[in-house]
Amino acid sequence: MASGEVQRKKRLSISVRGTVQGVGFRPFVFSCASRLGLSGFVRNDTSGVRIEVEGETEKIEEFMAELRQNPPGLAKIDELTFSEKPPAGYAVFEIVKSTKEGAGFIPVMPDAAMCEKCLAEMMDPHDRRFHYPFINCTCCGPRFSIMKDIPYDRENTSMREFAMCDECRREYESPRDRRFHAQPVACTRCGPAVFFVTGDKKLWNRHDCTKALTAGETGLEGRRKEVMVRQSAEASDREISKAGELLRKGGILAVRGLGGFHLAVNALDDNAVAKLRQRKLRQGKPFAVMTKDVDEVKKYCLINPQEEKILRSQRRPIVLLKKRNDTLGEGISEGVSPGLDTVGVMLPYTPLHHLLMKSVDFPLVMTSGNVSEEPICRENSEAVERLGKIADGFLMHNREIVNRIDDSVCFFAAEKERLIRRARGYAPAPFILKNRSKPLIACGAFYKNTFCLVRDEYAFLSQHIGDLDNDRTFEYYADQVERYRNLFKVNPVFAAKDMHPGYLSGAYADGLGVPVLAVQHHHAHIASVMAEYGAEEVLGIAYDGTGLGTDGRIWGAEFILANYRGFRRVGHLKYVPLPGAEAAVKNPFRSALGHIFPHFEDFREFVGRFEAGLVELIARQIQRRFNCPEASSMGRLFDAASSLIGIRDEASYEGQAAAEMEAAIRPDGGFYEYQVADEGVCFVVDAYPALKAAYCDFTGGIDRGIVAARFHNTVVKFTVDVAKRIRERWGVDRVALAGGCFQNRYLLEKVNQELLNEGFEVLIPSSVPVNDGGLSLGQAVIAAEYFSDKA
Ligand code: ZN
Ligand code: ZN
Ligand code: FE
Repeated sequence: MASGEVQRKKRLSISVRGTVQGVGFRPFVFSCASRLGLSGFVRNDTSGVRIEVEGETEKIEEFMAELRQNPPGLAKIDELTFSEKPPAGYAVFEIVKSTKEGAGFIPVMPDAAMCEKCLAEMMDPHDRRFHYPFINCTCCGPRFSIMKDIPYDRENTSMREFAMCDECRREYESPRDRRFHAQPVACTRCGPAVFFVTGDKKLWNRHDCTKALTAGETGLEGRRKEVMVRQSAEASDREISKAGELLRKGGILAVRGLGGFHLAVNALDDNAVAKLRQRKLRQGKPFAVMTKDVDEVKKYCLINPQEEKILRSQRRPIVLLKKRNDTLGEGISEGVSPGLDTVGVMLPYTPLHHLLMKSVDFPLVMTSGNVSEEPICRENSEAVERLGKIADGFLMHNREIVNRIDDSVCFFAAEKERLIRRARGYAPAPFILKNRSKPLIACGAFYKNTFCLVRDEYAFLSQHIGDLDNDRTFEYYADQVERYRNLFKVNPVFAAKDMHPGYLSGAYADGLGVPVLAVQHHHAHIASVMAEYGAEEVLGIAYDGTGLGTDGRIWGAEFILANYRGFRRVGHLKYVPLPGAEAAVKNPFRSALGHIFPHFEDFREFVGRFEAGLVELIARQIQRRFNCPEASSMGRLFDAASSLIGIRDEASYEGQAAAEMEAAIRPDGGFYEYQVADEGVCFVVDAYPALKAAYCDFTGGIDRGIVAARFHNTVVKFTVDVAKRIRERWGVDRVALAGGCFQNRYLLEKVNQELLNEGFEVLIPSSVPVNDGGLSLGQAVIAAEYFSDKA
């Protein structure tokens, strides 16, 4: 009898890699194994999750099927390996402590918005976490933003400073509880707390000072959180209602959230919004809005079911939605996204946000808590120092934010979600590459910078860092690189950078002391799309503002035949002078003058809008080629058109003129003339005839919305025209679209549709930002290929 039993019994040692920590994976394994009567153990290690199960063969098979088919919602299994071993005679199944063995690494969970169960508990007056602003569970709450190291255990997060109360510990230790090993578990008696202080420091007493300046900061020794522990629901409600009161009076509130501070005002209040713009030194760039639920969104915006699904997802990004135009005078303040027909909307994603939204009855502007374009504030003292002149009050808490992370931004177009800014909820989830790579880092470019660390087949694309044009952003960048290196155990032996010699990201790459590959900007754009779809060879169409070309000129409307090894430029816009170079970005009329030079006399009305002296100066600048590079930029072409048809001459952020032109579109099927020159190796598009015709339409009294539509249609038409000519000559019919201009939804959808109609296969990035935020992933895969045969 003994021998029969031994044969029927078996032991499996299983390794799971992927997003499996901090997602309720071990309790899932535990309950599954217990149900099937298996013994053994499960534990987290630095490579993922290790499981040993022992028992009857059929039961083990059932267990494996369950593991593969029904893992918890937030989990993502990338790899599952196992080996059979002789039975060890385990008596029970248990969850054992994590080990630090091995130099492995694991993906870290992005932060997840509060789940429905937690929301229900928080609103239940009989629940012990009634109105508790930091309620969370295994399925929701902070992750990456509070993580200092792996594995994901409480001691490696900023929750280590809060000692669990007995009840929380019971939940945490009980495998059948929905808070089993939820690392940030906390309650009113033992966890973080909120408090309100006014913006006027003169009114602070000593208690306020201690609260504001020491709570939840890095570098605090031991447990100095006693200032605020044991905050009753009534007490925290009081603090939040003070914040609500401030907002109702039209004040500016700084709120410490999940990944940093937000600045909030009543989104319906024109004066409050204007005051925020003025104090934050932010002129035209749109603000995002938070509404309490989807019904409230529908009051102000048009929303389709797919957009609603993205809005409600646990990633909770900001979704760009079309404004309703039937809410005149009652809608969201025009100052929120001036000149645009869209507004970025998000739903509350932390319990604190839910409670704050409940304390007011209007939507809130929720914009990054920073000055101008600096990184978002993370610490309380930092916020007081940097936001003190902006905010009238602060709603703070004492849970340290380890990794600052902005809100993600996306829009829905051509049947899919399209990321514009990849941050909270998405980063640092890795992309899986087709091939394993040596460890390397890609440093990005300049605008909307991100970096990307690669190890094996994992590419860790960082969260949005920002434009690398100030010291604070660069510090944030360098600091995050270090954190990622540590968190994912990557020690790069190679690096990649943009070809442009003037970028800080390039200098950073050069300073690493490893071989560096300079990657052409638009090649990287296209490679990022190839990486997302695992494509090997494409016709890439990259439309953006500016990127340095291999001929030393500025590129930005490029047709390239690309693989990971290299590319061949087979089409582009005709070069035109760009007077003032970077100065043209903020001055679309300069682009216009560059495009129409030397035919100023044909554009009298336009040229006459500017001071004669200035026009003459720019003309001379163009003639003498002084600070006047040649550019083939789609972004600048749109700028020129926008200025010529009277939409915008000066921009307060990159792409504003083009965005407003898109917003102005009124449906029309017309288009203008253009020319394509066949230069043998390259097709060159001359858009001058289109600019001139658009201008004539406009001065001839045709509505600028119609003119805007016709101009867009022209760009669509020559894009498809050139793609067809390239297909004829080179036989490629798979197209990848990339570059910031494809944030233009009209352009993206039309180009996509027309290419599909012509029988092309079209790849459009979805989870990689289409703009420069995706560039580092492209650099990374190009570098991985380049260095693959180097020592
Ligand atoms: Zn939850
Ligand atoms: Zn507790
Ligand atoms: Fe770009």
